[in-house]
Amino acid sequence: MKIQEGGLRILVAEDDPISRRLLETVLKKWGYEVAIANDGEQAWRMLENEEAPRLAILDWMMPGLDGIEVCRRVRERNAPTYTYILLLTARSQREDLLQGMEAGADDYLTKPFDANELKVRLRAGRRILELQEQLINAQAALRDQAARDPLTGIWNRSAVFDILQRELARSERDASPLAVVMADLDHFKKLNDTFGHLAGDAILRETVRRMAGSIRNYDALGRYGGEEFLLVLPGCDLASGLYRAEQIRRAVTSEPVDTSEGRIAVTCSFGVAATDGLNHQNSDHLVHRADAALFRAKHNGRNRVES
Ligand SMILES: [Mg+2]
Repeated sequence: MKIQEGGLRILVAEDDPISRRLLETVLKKWGYEVAIANDGEQAWRMLENEEAPRLAILDWMMPGLDGIEVCRRVRERNAPTYTYILLLTARSQREDLLQGMEAGADDYLTKPFDANELKVRLRAGRRILELQEQLINAQAALRDQAARDPLTGIWNRSAVFDILQRELARSERDASPLAVVMADLDHFKKLNDTFGHLAGDAILRETVRRMAGSIRNYDALGRYGGEEFLLVLPGCDLASGLYRAEQIRRAVTSEPVDTSEGRIAVTCSFGVAATDGLNHQNSDHLVHRADAALFRAKHNGRNRVES
């Protein structure tokens, strides 16, 4: 979300009606949307709100809560998004201003304010808000990137394991079943050796696309190892886990995969384990059981589902 030149909402908290009217007029002229508070209490109520304006001009001297106190409360709240606060004051003594800055004000303006100065101060505030927003977006992108497998875009091993632990806790809380499926492409090493790693990568990506297309929104799919995938299926007991794994197997093996080396047929083996949510299950143990079932699927001829 980009903060627009106009459009940005500013809270003006000012008890003096003339000064308030003046602020409202210039801000609107500059294209800002203006929210008005007549005193500190009202300002705080508005700033507490999740949809609060992110930029606030607070008069220092107001009956009830003064600007400093509102400022302090905003900072104590420690919200995920930043509120940029410009303190408006008739005082110009240095120690007073320091007090305002210490309470968490970002900037101040002395009254009577100069319109051009206000304009410049607001531009600085908007820039800070934009930078903060970019930072939050970049952090979120990094967090997401760190949880993804770079080749296929699905969850990586540690992320899908985190999801499994979360879903397992939920399953115990709700006494609802949970199935875990371990899938492994058959003879993948041989495919890689025969057709090369580019074709191998294409097979992995297409396998993931087919798996992802046959699971529900609330299922999780992660790359567990090279050609090994872990699926977490909330709400599924062993019977429906087996059924779902068979559906996924059919989707994966439905037709050969197009690669630069031609169309290559793939098969996949599946191991399923489930918990009923009534007895405590350790996630490692559950995965281990799915792994043992996968081993049986391999042992019994591959391209099949076992529990
Ligand atoms: Mg006042």
